[in-house]
Amino acid sequence: MSVVDSGAVGHGATWAAGGMLAAALEAEPGEEAMVGLARWSQALWPLWAEQLAAASGIDVAYRGEGTLQVASNRDELAALHHRYRYLKRQGLPVEWRDSGPLRDLEPGLSPDMLGAIVSAGDHQVDPRAVVPALAAAVAAAGGRIEGNRAVAAIEPADRGWIVRLADGEHRAADHVVLAAGAWSAGIAGWPTQARPPVRPAKGQALVLQMDPVRPLVRHVVWGAGIYLVPRLDGRLYVGATVEDRGYDRQPTAGGVLSLLEAAWRILPGIEELPLVELVTGLRPRSRDDLPMVGPAGAPGLHLATGHHRNGILLAPATAELVAAGILGGMPAIDASAFAPARFHSPTEVAVTA
Ligand SMILES: Cc1cc2nc3c(=O)[nH]c(=O)nc-3n(C[C@H](O)[C@H](O)[C@H](O)COP(=O)(O)OP(=O)(O)OC[C@H]3O[C@@H](n4cnc5c(N)ncnc54)[C@H](O)[C@@H]3O)c2cc1C
Repeated sequence: MSVVDSGAVGHGATWAAGGMLAAALEAEPGEEAMVGLARWSQALWPLWAEQLAAASGIDVAYRGEGTLQVASNRDELAALHHRYRYLKRQGLPVEWRDSGPLRDLEPGLSPDMLGAIVSAGDHQVDPRAVVPALAAAVAAAGGRIEGNRAVAAIEPADRGWIVRLADGEHRAADHVVLAAGAWSAGIAGWPTQARPPVRPAKGQALVLQMDPVRPLVRHVVWGAGIYLVPRLDGRLYVGATVEDRGYDRQPTAGGVLSLLEAAWRILPGIEELPLVELVTGLRPRSRDDLPMVGPAGAPGLHLATGHHRNGILLAPATAELVAAGILGGMPAIDASAFAPARFHSPTEVAVTA
């Protein structure tokens, strides 16, 4: 197996991500298939983290304290109660905490917080540990993984496909998996009708540094338009905007202002923390906001893209589905809602060698 990445390996949206594995709190009405996929992937993560550590020697910083979604005023409280009842009706494992018990759980939260949904099963990993762990695991399994090598085009061969790299080299392959994130629609030679309708959704985030021995917060915390993700080494990830700005990745004053303001309302102690990094990434967003995973509609071509806000959460399930598509196994869930064919035109995807 050979993996090529046009930039430094795994430094796309994945490098900018919060790493939340929020299958319950991300659940939205009308997205029941997505909840099924997300919960399956969430359940796969603990073993995946162990297997990655064993294969690579890299700990992906899996944290299991869970996630709190907080309300800071009466309107937010009413909306959060409503959301809590919806999540409960879906059978999701969430609980309610009033403000007193909430402060017992996280004393650093502002006293203005009026209550919270506690989602004990929505954990987190550090994507910046997951990337080198996956790369090392691929290499240990005999795979070849190379950065700074862009795919320019693919073309059909007598048997399988030729993948042409921008530097002139080419590779022959029986199977090609297109997983180029927000850039997945731009690979020349990919059959037009099977081209994934993916566009970039810009996300800005920032990183503050807490004292790792006395962190301000231990749970992941969600508020209105904001989430806080405390890492084991004391970094506090504060994210994230969702913006329609094409391929622009420039951090903006407005983005940073909105993140800091919203974070400070929830956790006033951040005022004293050093700001160590501004982060931007481009989420790969599909036309219906669901991922496209599986056979792409032409023999030997597969997609793994369109994961939008949940690509880290969905990584183990995506790996299972892609493997099933190539090796012919039966996935553990019905993944038809994520089949790339849902976007294909009724005519057959034409490929001529
Ligand atoms: C700010 C932010 C916060 C997020 N937080 C979370 C979170 O908490 N939890 C979660 O589950 N998800 C989160 N996400 C979403 C998640 O990061 C994405 O869904 C996921 O990383 C997408 O992975 P990907 O591999 O498809 O794309 P990317 O990580 O963008 O990788 C695509 C790769 O393709 C390469 N590439 C592009 N063109 C070519 C080419 N022609 N040839 C070869 N290589 C090419 C790029 O260099 C890049 O490395 C977040 C995203 C952002 C931006």
